[in-house]
This record gives sequence, C-alpha cells and structure tokens, in this order.
Amino acid sequence: MKHSPNSPILLTSSLHVDEARKAISSLVSELLQESHAINDPADIETVLLDQAINRILAEDLLSPIDVPAADNSAMDGYAFDGKCLGTSSSPIHLRVVGTVLAGQPYKGQIEAGECLKIMTGAVMPAGCDTVIPQEFTASSNDESINFKSDQLKAGENRRLRGEDLQKGKAAISAGRLLRPSDLGLAASLGIAKLKVRRKLKVAILSSGDELRSLGQALDAGSIYDSNRYSLTGLLNRLDLKIIDCGIVRDDPSSLKQAFIEAASKADVLISSGGVSVGEADFTKQIMQELGDVGFWKIAMRPGRPMAFGILKPVSGSSSRKTLFFGLPGNPVAVMVTFYQFVRSALLQLNGASQTETPIVQAISETAIRKKPGRTEFQRAILGRNAEGKPSVRLTGSQGAGILRSMSEANCFVILSHDQGNIAAGDWVDIALFDGLL
Ligand code: AMP
Ligand code: MG
Repeated sequence: MKHSPNSPILLTSSLHVDEARKAISSLVSELLQESHAINDPADIETVLLDQAINRILAEDLLSPIDVPAADNSAMDGYAFDGKCLGTSSSPIHLRVVGTVLAGQPYKGQIEAGECLKIMTGAVMPAGCDTVIPQEFTASSNDESINFKSDQLKAGENRRLRGEDLQKGKAAISAGRLLRPSDLGLAASLGIAKLKVRRKLKVAILSSGDELRSLGQALDAGSIYDSNRYSLTGLLNRLDLKIIDCGIVRDDPSSLKQAFIEAASKADVLISSGGVSVGEADFTKQIMQELGDVGFWKIAMRPGRPMAFGILKPVSGSSSRKTLFFGLPGNPVAVMVTFYQFVRSALLQLNGASQTETPIVQAISETAIRKKPGRTEFQRAILGRNAEGKPSVRLTGSQGAGILRSMSEANCFVILSHDQGNIAAGDWVDIALFDGLL
C-alpha cells in the first residue's frame, strides 16, 4: 500500500506509532527509488579510514586477502603432526627441534617423533597440523615433551587460512554505519580508504514568536530556543551536515520564505513548533503550496502532533525533493519524536542497512501509571538492583516540556500502545540513549 503523506490513513484522529513509522519508511523508499535519490554515484565520496567513523559504507568492502593469510597457531604450545595421536590415553613423547615465533615462519621440515615450540599467531610449520597447549605438557628439560594422547584431537588449536575472511568475499557489507571495529577490520586488510555516502544536508529551524536566541535578553513571556541545540546534538551523533536556519517567527510569509530557502539547500528539513492545534492552520496552508505534507496526531506521549512529508524542489534551482519533519515544539517531545521517527529515516535515506536502535528489558523499580491506547516514552535511569538485575527508575516529573527529565535520564522506558499500568517489579522495554559501541 502506498502511503502518501495525505492519504486518508494518515488523517485518522490518532495514528499508531508503528503506522507512522511505516508511512515514513515507505515515503523514504519512494524517494530512494526516484532518480534524484541520494544513492546516485555522485553522492559517493572516498575518505581516509580515520575520517570514516559514523559514515555509511557505500559499497561492499571486498577482502583483498585471506585472513588469516596462512594456517597459524591459536595457542602458545608445541606444533606437531596429529597423525601420531591415538584414542587411548597412551603417553606421547616428542623431541623439541626448534622454536617458531609470530612473524618468523619456520623453514625446515620436521620428522615423525618431533615437534616445534610455537607461539600464538606463528605460521604452522610444514608437516604440522596440531598444537598442544604448553600447560597440557610435561617436560623434564627443554629438549622433549610428554602428554597424553586423548588430551586433544588432530587439527586442534590451529587457525585455518581464510577462516575469518576469504579473499574476494565481502568483509563489510554496503550500508554499514561504520564503527571503530569496522575501521580496524579495514586496516587489517591493508585498506586505507573507504567509499562512503556523502553527508546528508539537514536544515533545522525553530518556529515561535516567543523564542529568543542565546545572548538575547528575555522579555516577558519569551523563552530561549533550546530545540535547535538538542537537535544539533542529536544530528551530530550521526555525522551530518547541519544547516542552521535559526528562529522563524509565527508569520506565514517569514515561515514560507524559510521553508523555501531550506528546501533549496537541504535533503531534509526538521522544524520544531507550530504544528499543534491552533498553530497548524497557517503552517498547513503554506505546506499545501510548497509540498505534500500530512499533519498527524500520533497516539504517543510525549509528541502527539507532527507534520511529515516532502517539500517540492524549488523551481529554478537544481535541488531535489526535501524530506520534511515538523516536530512538536515541546523540548522533550522534539527529542522523543526525533528518536522515534527522524533518526531511522535519516539513516534509511542515506543507505544504512540497520536503522533501528536495540530495545532491551529492565525491571521497573516503581509502579507506572499508563493508559492503553498510546505509546509512551518515559525518561529513566538504568542501573542494577540489589540482586544485580537491570532495573530502571523514572527521572522526576515527566511533562513534555521538562527537559531536565531528559537530561538526567540515560534511557527511555517504552510502554507499548496496548499496555496498561505497570506494577513495581514488572519487566519493561527500554532504549538506551547511548549505543554500545
Ligand atoms: P508549539 O508546538 O509551537 O505549540 O510549542 C509547544 C511548546 O513548546 C510551547 O510552550 C513553546 O513555547 C515550546 N517551544 C516551542 N519551540 C521551542 C524551542 N525551540 N525551544 C524551547 N521551547 C520551545
Ligand atoms: Mg509555537
């Protein structure tokens, strides 16, 4: 089913969070299929490994070598020909004829009844396929070792050539959001540069007559614009190019001008404020002229009102369609809707194969009141209880405007749509603010 932002399904009075996510994901897929999408070859850049962190790999990284490049020892011990092993516990006696170190392959050949002292990572010498770990052997001198035949099987404690990665196969698949381990992996293959997607250009703006910039005096009824700063922080975690369009007044012509400017420069525009009932009317009018945008009431807390859709390319410019998120103005609602809807859409638009963050479970330390019929995102601190089990407690007052609840938290407790009240001791879903790596 095609989810145009204005299709009737999206105008129902209360949209389930999952339906909203699906609609967003299908619109992003449509954008990706259009010729102007971000996966154009012109949108791929080559960067040095140390610049590649948090970027998205644009094509499969094929291994130019087998890893390991040769059979090698997995242990410090003695290498020998496993044919001498029997099934009984009969003793084996081998003569030590030399030592093999990592990085210094042994050039000679060993005979039956002989072995070589070998270090972890050293190339297996010709004629040897098995390593007995040092601690399983007995020795009265440096010249020979004794061990029992049934302590190991032929081929044990040896890493095989290509066991980790085979030459020509994908070591990292296209679409990977590159993490420290991926950079290490590329370096281990001798690869110094990676092809990555260009950084998405994301414009942000705050709308509201009451908003003041930092450095300005606060007159009666005005507040500082905090949303652009939390959004900048959230976007910086994804390594994007941020275009800051500042504060825009609640006035149709300023708003229209700001949207046109953002649409001419950015792949995505994220605004906050101006989508709640009462304010949405004139925003809707502008959006009808500039694009195809749905105004949603989502069954969630915080973050009920949200606008989503596309802004048409600005005529006369070479710009593409711009994905538009009109987030609610409340500071916590901005962060929750970003986490729920925007983050995965940005990753998907930039070709990432994994766009979701992991959900884990913890025990709720207290009872939590919850009405079925909406998804709730409560701010909480994850720790451990007296028994060492993961446990969460909410951070103070949970109002949508109370940014401190968010600042003190390290995770969301996510209470699903149909869920009712939670009793102390119940397991609940949580999403950590920080990834594991
Ligand atoms: P709105 O969605 O525009 O009705 O705003 C909802 C609430 O969020 C109001 O109390 C606004 O003052 C507040 N708000 C809107 N935008 C911002 C912002 N950029 N920074 C801080 N608070 C905001
Ligand atoms: Mg407002």
